[in-house]
Amino acid sequence: MAWNVVIAGGGFAGANVARKLESILPAQSARLVLANDVNFMLYTPFLPEAAAGTLEPRHVVTPLREIVKRANLKLGVVEGHDPATRQVEITTYDGGTELVRYDQLVLAPGSISRFLPIPGLAEHAVGFKSLADAIWARNTVIESLELANATEDPEVRDRLLRFVFVGGGYAGLEALAELQDFAADAMRHYPRARLHGMHWMLVEAKDRVLPEIDEVLADYAAKELRGRGIDIRLNTTLSEVTADTATLSTGEVFPTRMVVWTAGVVPQPSLRNLSVPLDESGRVLVDDFLRVEGMEGVWALGDAAAVPDPDGGLCAPTAQHAVRQAATAARNVAASLGIGAPAPYRYRSRAAFVNLGRYKAVGMVGERTFSGFPAWWMARTYHMSQIPGNARKFRAVLDWTASLPFERDLSEVGSIGRPGVLATERYERGGSHRPMR
Ligand SMILES: Cc1cc2nc3c(=O)[nH]c(=O)nc-3n(C[C@H](O)[C@H](O)[C@H](O)COP(=O)(O)OP(=O)(O)OC[C@H]3O[C@@H](n4cnc5c(N)ncnc54)[C@H](O)[C@@H]3O)c2cc1C
Repeated sequence: MAWNVVIAGGGFAGANVARKLESILPAQSARLVLANDVNFMLYTPFLPEAAAGTLEPRHVVTPLREIVKRANLKLGVVEGHDPATRQVEITTYDGGTELVRYDQLVLAPGSISRFLPIPGLAEHAVGFKSLADAIWARNTVIESLELANATEDPEVRDRLLRFVFVGGGYAGLEALAELQDFAADAMRHYPRARLHGMHWMLVEAKDRVLPEIDEVLADYAAKELRGRGIDIRLNTTLSEVTADTATLSTGEVFPTRMVVWTAGVVPQPSLRNLSVPLDESGRVLVDDFLRVEGMEGVWALGDAAAVPDPDGGLCAPTAQHAVRQAATAARNVAASLGIGAPAPYRYRSRAAFVNLGRYKAVGMVGERTFSGFPAWWMARTYHMSQIPGNARKFRAVLDWTASLPFERDLSEVGSIGRPGVLATERYERGGSHRPMR
């Protein structure tokens, strides 16, 4: 008899569980189902570089069919779970629903951007968690430079050249660093804007940036950014956003048209419908074997789970943890099916890197810190070992190498994926001739 193993979520955690189980479980003993809402895995650490144009957006994703060979990939969202009948309900791409029976269920649906009820946030700010977000940020920066260079009005120019990022975790800090570095290089093509100068601000509620990593490295990264003129406001929050301003808890009103919201993540809200125990923040409660509390054959990991950290507290929502937890989850699922022995999650990170722009980074290995090109190169070498699929590794290396001797690409192609309308009468009626971006 073959066992059914269902994995919900195909990100760092879920895709790696599937891949590991393919190598541990003999084909005849287990049927693997991997359910994910899209057919690719997004390599988020490269998202800031996709925004800055150092990497092609398509080169920061890997098709799931390249990662898993044997697992049955179902494109859809796991929206229901009945522990009594051991079935999950999947809403498929075409809008249908499918019930899938499991013997072992692995929950790895990740997280979404944390949202707070701040006036104007939903209408005027954008997150930084998807390819669409990254491309929006890039296009908005380029558009702002173009408009700032063209306008005669110094007040408008000032507003166009101010950029605000709220939240100093990995996503916010790296995205700001990459985009600021990109804009600083691009400025040579915008003489009026250059003369005026830009203002990049990072707003963080806590008294330090990068809570995911060691404080020594986090302070080092903040010092580097301050040295580049980036205005880092600690112990400060955002209190209101409009189309033209960001108001801070200090009462300052900052003119800007670009507010990027990166103030942390919360577990996927769909977990609330999956009949599993959750902690107060919505993460699935698991023990250090990643077994969901009080349930047999149900496991959870990654950003979606409250995994005890061997160093105390809970694991931070990082890809480093998700990938290592995947190895533990796969091992323990196999052990429950009679193959191998279970083991608790015991990972201690000894190295961390923070990307700060094209060929710039800071890093820490053991007690030693690194900066500049050596840190960037070490971080890329590490990522090369992690990004799934040889084709993607090769393409990323080609992108970095090809951009070495050339200037930044300033084309703002927001029209990609949005075809123009076939409407000749628009021209006949004397309508707008402005091409759709
Ligand atoms: C810009 C950015 C930069 C980052 N940089 C770093 C870094 O340098 N180092 C680091 O360690 N971490 C970094 N992180 C954090 C890292 O991306 C996350 O910790 C990691 O993605 C968590 O892995 P996961 O598998 O739990 O979730 P994800 O990778 O988000 O995968 C979850 C998957 O499940 C899918 N899904 C969601 N709900 C369902 C459902 N109901 N049914 C089916 N599928 C579903 C999602 O679409 C997604 O494909 C960064 C994050 C961001 C946003």
